[in-house]
Amino acid sequence: MSYGAGMKEADPNVCGVCGGDGRIENAWGQVARCPSCGGSGKRAEDTGFRDVTKTKESHHKNTHRIGAPAPKQTWPSTAVGAQLANDIKSSSLAPETKERLTREIIEHESTHGQCTKTFIKKVRKQIGPLAKS
Ligand SMILES: [Zn+2]
Repeated sequence: MSYGAGMKEADPNVCGVCGGDGRIENAWGQVARCPSCGGSGKRAEDTGFRDVTKTKESHHKNTHRIGAPAPKQTWPSTAVGAQLANDIKSSSLAPETKERLTREIIEHESTHGQCTKTFIKKVRKQIGPLAKS
């Protein structure tokens, strides 16, 4: 017993919720990770500013309108084009071929405003028969 009175020094760098353990015990005796410090036991640095650079990029879908400037479009903007791109994606083509064809669709869309039947035929020919699952 080193702490006679059992008093802990109030460390400003230690999480005040778990007391630096990084874990908290609930009423049922279960040990859970401290929600305040996330298990580190350290008080989160509070600079007054939230780090907004860490926002995760999750499945953001491009809903660019036709004709709108899309500097880095990676997916067709029309339903037909997207369907075609999906077929390319699920085909057994090489990744670089898939990428090229998808880009062709996007380019075709930007010049024609939509996917023409001839174009779809042309692309489908390159995709080949779809693998039935
Ligand atoms: Zn904590």
